[in-house]
Amino acid sequence: MLEIDNLHAGYGGSSVLKGVSLQLRQGEFVAVVGPNGAGKTTLFKTISGTVAARSGRIRFNGTDLAAIPAARRPHLGIAHVPEGRQLFPSLTVMENLEMGASTEAGRRDWARNLAQVLEWFPILAERRNQLAGTLSGGQQQMVAVGRGLASSPSLLMLDEPSMGLAPAVAEFIFDRLTEIHRQAGMTILLVEQRVAEALESADRGYVLEAGRIVLEGTHEALRSDDRVRQAYLGM
Ligand code: ATP
Repeated sequence: MLEIDNLHAGYGGSSVLKGVSLQLRQGEFVAVVGPNGAGKTTLFKTISGTVAARSGRIRFNGTDLAAIPAARRPHLGIAHVPEGRQLFPSLTVMENLEMGASTEAGRRDWARNLAQVLEWFPILAERRNQLAGTLSGGQQQMVAVGRGLASSPSLLMLDEPSMGLAPAVAEFIFDRLTEIHRQAGMTILLVEQRVAEALESADRGYVLEAGRIVLEGTHEALRSDDRVRQAYLGM
């Protein structure tokens, strides 16, 4: 579904991604883990188009994304749930969810998607008329995930959904992502600093360090890799 080949990207004079290659098949749940500043967010922004690739190629379902502007990419089925949620704080939960349904598929499937999101995150049904800015961090993350799902994506990309959340709340979010993957067959690409939880949820993972993929493998292989255990799992 997603094929990234030798991708380079950066900002001004600095180069952040230095030849990243990554593949994602339909129905997979893949995690990209790595330290602060490794380029995880930049990788996502390059996929969703807000940062331009300097060289290399990104193909989505066979389409080369180079020619597709960022605003068109959600219509191809790419949903990006950004770092820090980026909700509209003075709009209600429902209004934020509706914002996600701006694609043709999202409008067509709105009723079904909304019912599904409220089933996965029942608290949002109770809070549907509350302003998003007044929700807890975990609830805001649920809205951000729901808004992504409201576009009827074929690929759901999540940038650090656990950021700033208490461990139990983060665990709930990871649990829901596993459920969304399992129940809806959603293809998920997840960026996380909580490596243990991310590798537990995902089928496969990549380790990104200083703009390069240094390791990849199934979640079992990565969780038992000595480098991963020492650098990321504190063992
Ligand atoms: P984090 O978890 O801290 O977000 P990350 O792995 O997602 O880390 P990026 O956010 O992609 O890393 O940042 C990679 C590098 O690019 C960092 O050195 C960062 O300072 C730099 N960077 C990010 N955004 C910009 C920008 N808009 N302009 C200039 N440099 C940037």
